[in-house]
Amino acid sequence: MMQGVETPLPRGAMIGMLGAGQLAKMFAQSASQFGYRTCMMDTKQDCCGFDAASKVVVGSFTSVEDLTRFAEHCSVITLEFENIPLSTLDILQSITGGKIGIYPGDKALRVSQNRSYEKAVAKELGIPTLKYWSLTLPKDFDAITEANFPVIVKTCTNGYDGKGQRRVGNVDELWAAWVEFKKVPCVVEEMIDIDFEMSVIIARNAKGQVASYAPFHNIHKDGILRTTDWPVEFITRRVLGEANEAARKLASHLNVVGLLAVEFFFERNGGLVFNEIAPRPHNSGHVTIECAATSQFEQHVRAVTGLPLGNTAPRCGGRMTNIIGDESSFQDYFAQTSTIVHRYGKVPAPGRKLGHVVEFH
Ligand code: ADP
Ligand code: MG
Repeated sequence: MMQGVETPLPRGAMIGMLGAGQLAKMFAQSASQFGYRTCMMDTKQDCCGFDAASKVVVGSFTSVEDLTRFAEHCSVITLEFENIPLSTLDILQSITGGKIGIYPGDKALRVSQNRSYEKAVAKELGIPTLKYWSLTLPKDFDAITEANFPVIVKTCTNGYDGKGQRRVGNVDELWAAWVEFKKVPCVVEEMIDIDFEMSVIIARNAKGQVASYAPFHNIHKDGILRTTDWPVEFITRRVLGEANEAARKLASHLNVVGLLAVEFFFERNGGLVFNEIAPRPHNSGHVTIECAATSQFEQHVRAVTGLPLGNTAPRCGGRMTNIIGDESSFQDYFAQTSTIVHRYGKVPAPGRKLGHVVEFH
């Protein structure tokens, strides 16, 4: 019997966290609230999550020695970032001999690392996707010429916050963008007229029980999330049902243990279409820290330690706003006593998420 599945992990158990950014930091704060400790591993020394960790390992995700130093402390292992090498999971499996849970699991990781796999899985499960083409070889251009330009070309792997994608107006620009991406495998999507964007976060535990949050309404600028409102009244019951059903199907199919975030577009004059998934806490879910009965981070802790999943109901309405690139707005927010401020402690850089604030509706 594996602890954390039939029985919850005991007080003081160490949760291993791969990655030590702000998601790991907020995860560790929730783990601590439940009497657990967090051991974080990252490749760099200056990670904001380390401030909240009980143990820290700096090392390579492909080094057996470094992963051994990490795993020896852990009663369960999870992650904040899906773009870690798949070999990391294999190494961790063999070090731990299958005695502890390593989550979200290899299928979820493999699929969520690749946009093309994500879309294929969504299609297979009957979840509507937008029109797209795979681009791996020059001959793939033959089919793409039929697309309605402008299109967006996105690298299949390693993209986030709008990085690894270009909007292009014709085939020549598409070729230039692909060359710039060093001709790595890409997906090409038609630009759609988006009415609104939303995400659903679902938690699933090792027994297969699930609990999802009502959809988050997300506003992006230049490919980066700016604000999230939650809960939202304008999303109809039907759309809410479709989104929850899609998230449930994906989480079960991918055998996720932990959290799965699913991003959707709502196409004007169309309907809900799948965009992408992330098997971890999601930026849009930060609003749950103040506004839900159970925050996404508490829920992640609960799902991987075998505690019962918490209540996902809203307790109040709020708007989350990201603070990106420069820190000057923090002082204003600190002076506004009704605003909740989360400052991650990261060194400012253009496009970097430095914190977020929550204001109540
Ligand atoms: P990332 O991994 O960077 O989040 P996404 O595929 O979610 O990549 O794209 C980031 C944002 O760019 C989306 O949230 C949306 O605002 C916009 N976008 C992406 N694809 C399309 C599309 N096909 N049509 C219109 N807008 C898009
Ligand atoms: Mg996205």
